Amino acid sequence: DELGALDAEVSVCRACPRLVRWREDVAVAKRAAYADETYWGRPIPGWGDPQPQVLVVGLAPAAHGANRTGRVFTGDRSGDWLFASLHRVGLATQATSVRADDGQSLIDTRMVATVRCAPPQNKPTTDEIATCAPWIEAELALVVRHVRAVVALGGIGWAATLRAFDAIGWTVPRPRPRFGHGAEAVLSGPDGQAITLLGCYHPSQQNTFTGRLTEPMLDAVLGRAAALRVP
Ligand code: SF4
Repeated sequence: DELGALDAEVSVCRACPRLVRWREDVAVAKRAAYADETYWGRPIPGWGDPQPQVLVVGLAPAAHGANRTGRVFTGDRSGDWLFASLHRVGLATQATSVRADDGQSLIDTRMVATVRCAPPQNKPTTDEIATCAPWIEAELALVVRHVRAVVALGGIGWAATLRAFDAIGWTVPRPRPRFGHGAEAVLSGPDGQAITLLGCYHPSQQNTFTGRLTEPMLDAVLGRAAALRVP
């Protein structure tokens, strides 16, 4: 199918020299705790329902998380928070996501990363974000007709989401709506479809350790996305 073809295509992308080097170096060096695992070390495709009503847009894979397990948000602390919350609001079958073969599955939901390769310090450059944009645009174009809500995790994901909708011919409000936790904006498609964009603080350790993002705050936004689904 078209999504499978896109996954295959993105998983061999080498367009960003700095990120290719980093994702592969990390996969060879490994973290001691994962020394006996084979790291994925490649770009991370989107994952979840191929006809999603909820789309979750993250920033980039973690070096020892998705870059190790090969599945978006799987095997790191941000993912622990995210999957637990998705489970609480009824969008995931299990509360944890540790390995690509752990039996986890998403309900009506798909997850994608803005930048598909792990960046050093979790910080992609502006150029890398722009270079990777065609991948999220292509994926969005393939699934958009099913989508009712998009949850953008963090300001970079929010901006990238608005750009991607713009690129596939949707109408985004002007001036561009500002990111915030709980922020909402309605995006309009060429054929009258409307999607609610929801802002959510990224469940990074920076936010969860400091209490900037709490479990109830995360549940509120993901629960709102779940409620926007149609039966
Ligand atoms: Fe390709 Fe995106 Fe990875 Fe850059 S970040 S190498 S564009 S998949």
